[in-house]
Amino acid sequence: MIPLFKVPMSPGAPAAVGDVLASGQIGQGAKVEEFERKIAERIDNPYVATVNSATAALQLGVRLAASTLPELPDGVEGEVLSTPLTMEATNWAILANGLKIKWVDIDEATLNVDLDDLARKITPATRAIMIVHFAGYPVDLARLGEILDGAEAKFGFRPTVIEDSAHAWGASFQGKPIGSHGNITVFSFQAIKHLTSGDGGALVLPNEAQYKRAKLLRWFGIDREVKDRLRNPPDIAEFGYKFHMNDINASIGLANMEIIDDVLKKHRDNAAFYDAELAGFDGVELTERAEDRESSFWIYPMKVERRADFDRKLTDAGVMVSNVHQRNDIHTVVRKFDALLPGLDRVADRIACVPVGSWVSEEDRQHIVDTIKAGW
Ligand SMILES: *Cc1c(COP(=O)(O)O)cnc(C)c1O
Repeated sequence: MIPLFKVPMSPGAPAAVGDVLASGQIGQGAKVEEFERKIAERIDNPYVATVNSATAALQLGVRLAASTLPELPDGVEGEVLSTPLTMEATNWAILANGLKIKWVDIDEATLNVDLDDLARKITPATRAIMIVHFAGYPVDLARLGEILDGAEAKFGFRPTVIEDSAHAWGASFQGKPIGSHGNITVFSFQAIKHLTSGDGGALVLPNEAQYKRAKLLRWFGIDREVKDRLRNPPDIAEFGYKFHMNDINASIGLANMEIIDDVLKKHRDNAAFYDAELAGFDGVELTERAEDRESSFWIYPMKVERRADFDRKLTDAGVMVSNVHQRNDIHTVVRKFDALLPGLDRVADRIACVPVGSWVSEEDRQHIVDTIKAGW
């Protein structure tokens, strides 16, 4: 079976972990700092706070975003605009902060949020805007910036954007890496993401003040940089979590930094092959490719006709197929936020992803294309 996901692991990782294990210091230390510096270099933004998962980063990110806005009048409940087409972690982070979810519809061409629908749904109760660069294909951040300019002119405040970039390590928009566009950005280093640290994530901030606050809140609210804590005990101004990364995970992440460019290149080469081979093929519709952005192709989503038959055909040929994420809005826990989402309704049952990662060989991808072209 050609798998949809496989863990790309640097040959240097076992020794790197061994060194940390033998060092007598396995908690958050020098390796975490080194990993943060490497991430900062790659995404061209110095304000990187690693944490133990993207889920933690999202939870902390929503808190930072919502609490930097002016307070809501009594009786008005805060809400976060968000996409229903994502891993549940994106949206449960909103619930964890006691905020309501307002679903934004999906743009059928990109599988990202529909920016027209998003523009219509911003109100004075909007506490943050959550977007996902689905499959690693960037949302139009320029257009989103204009929408926010409009909201600021109309309502007198600018909701913070959180870019859930768990799919989008290495992606770029208008030549600048995702993570450097002035929003809060979240990366995942979970096992099956492009760059893995075993488990882990990063919260990337737009400025130093938010970065410092994120570092406090990832560890109980305690300032770890106060040296003389016995004679000079630091006060805790607001409670924080236990979300920090440790040196064991950071050393795996650092080792995998050595191979990440090769990993990304393979995802992109395989995607370019599918683009060329499947463009215009009957029964398959590819997603948008705009000139001003570069996808990281964490997955390769297509919209297919008769998906159950497509799935059977590829599974029988030894190829794993999946929609990867189930629409989040149909779960009982969020039923009270129900909304009409015609764009999502039109694509939800047609999305199918085929293997595109670094483990997919030239023969594999040819086999996948031949199988699709034989019909289902
Ligand atoms: C994987 C994923 C997450 C969660 O990442 P963890 O590091 O496992 O917490 C969040 N959002 C999206 C879109 C994801 O794909």
